[in-house]
Amino acid sequence: MATVAPQIQPFTARQFEKPEKFLDFCENNGRPLAGIIGGRDVMGSMNVTYDTTDPGSLEVLASVCEMGQAEVGLAVDEAQAAFASWGKTSVEERCKLVMKLVELCERDRDVFLACEIFDGGKVSELAEGDFTQIRACAEYFCDVAKKAEMGEGPAMQVAAGMKGFTYREPWGVVAGIIPWNYPVVLNSWFIFPALLAGNCVLLKPAEDTPLSALYTGKLAEEAGFPPGVFNVLPGRGEITGQFIAEHPGVRYISFTGSPGVGQAIMRTCDAHGTRMKREMGGNGAAIVLGDADPGVVARQIGRYTNQHFGQTCCTVHRIFVDQKIADDFADAQRDFFENLQIGYQADAGTQLGAVVNSTQYSRIQRAQQETLARGGQAVLPGGVAEVADRTGYYLKPALFRTEPGVDCNPLEVFHTYATICPVSSEEQAVVLANSSPYGLGASVWTRDTERGVQIAKQFRDGTCQVNCHNSIAYGLPYGGQGISGGPGGGVNCEETFYDYTQVKAVYVGDYPE
Ligand code: NAD
Repeated sequence: MATVAPQIQPFTARQFEKPEKFLDFCENNGRPLAGIIGGRDVMGSMNVTYDTTDPGSLEVLASVCEMGQAEVGLAVDEAQAAFASWGKTSVEERCKLVMKLVELCERDRDVFLACEIFDGGKVSELAEGDFTQIRACAEYFCDVAKKAEMGEGPAMQVAAGMKGFTYREPWGVVAGIIPWNYPVVLNSWFIFPALLAGNCVLLKPAEDTPLSALYTGKLAEEAGFPPGVFNVLPGRGEITGQFIAEHPGVRYISFTGSPGVGQAIMRTCDAHGTRMKREMGGNGAAIVLGDADPGVVARQIGRYTNQHFGQTCCTVHRIFVDQKIADDFADAQRDFFENLQIGYQADAGTQLGAVVNSTQYSRIQRAQQETLARGGQAVLPGGVAEVADRTGYYLKPALFRTEPGVDCNPLEVFHTYATICPVSSEEQAVVLANSSPYGLGASVWTRDTERGVQIAKQFRDGTCQVNCHNSIAYGLPYGGQGISGGPGGGVNCEETFYDYTQVKAVYVGDYPE
């Protein structure tokens, strides 16, 4: 029997109005928002602008200049020039500037919330949580940077008359290519470790959500970062992103996005030796053991599945439930999904808002239909949702039942969407959970946490969880296995900091007499 757990609520919006400062920033005195290169506003030689819109109303928020090949080249030149001195600044000086930037972000908290809510389409509860990551991330990496072993390592005698040591230094010019779903968080995860390690950065936001990166670029100038240390290059992936990947002066790229794009960028980078790390999509699994309360766990998993309306890389989309409780679990999950309040993301009470753009809107509908075509049984079929007085990319949640051997959910769908599959044993559940090519996050739900840990360790995922999901903590790596990630040590841990450095071996022989 399922127990109802009303205290476990979906992420919910409070009423949020656009602050004046955000409106002024977007309006920009009637000019499109420019890229930020070498401390200057750069409109771009291609003369191309694009609009960034609110997905819940289709209102144009701002017009943005696209950066082309010339601007990428200019940014690399400016960053290389700035690196000559930035690379030699003390860790204390870098930490001071980073924390100054954090203070300015906190001064303008409402602008960042507006960016997440209107440009990104997020509900306030989630946007507010995301905002706290700016300080948390900066403080964590300041601590790591202060303890990091840069420069010369201990010398060793490698042969008679010859010693050797390691030399660790920043790469120089590094680029962060960021997706649209968590811009404030993912900008922070890139810029703070990269800058603190002594690199100059090119930040390339997603075309759908450029505003927070551009605003952060302005604040970085105000904080006093030397020109060229912090550059922001808005534009489409296949234009601006591609030119960044093709530029041999970019020594390292941190990419977050879809596996297909990450694989293509890696091939481009490999042609000229640019190193990269990749954090990519997932199709997260949850295993629910027979001792779990189906009502409580269905609600908790529902909250995660619906986090940012399912547009969260590591969240749950495939659920494997002990067959004894599968019916109760499916009923409770259906109730949770059905009762989500669909609406405009800045209206009080909204729990499921519009998806980010028309491409996703069509893709998700196709995926819902494909699930049926591949043998899934619709509990809630999804489809288009109507929201009074709003035009936007609104969709209903989708829930399907399936069975072992029916492969109806092979790809990341990126909406409030899940399949429920009854299983006859834990072993079967683990095999099915691991049968995906993705490997970002998985969880197991049980009152027996020791048993849970034994199962969690068998997941072929970067993040393995017991009685929780979408978990992130500074100090623990957040990365993917399979097509979800690598190379690189994941984000948010010491190894992340070292990813932004290169290490060389230096050999010193006695002068031959
Ligand atoms: P995407 O791969 O389409 O785009 C990501 C970024 O790459 C954007 O800035 C885009 O402009 C750029 N890009 C696109 N084509 C490019 C090219 N040819 N060269 C260089 N850059 C290019 O992904 P998206 O739709 O923006 O984001 C959603 C995806 O991101 C999902 O798969 C999601 O799971 C994943 N994601 C992963 C994590 C993680 O930490 N693992 C976090 C957030 C999102």
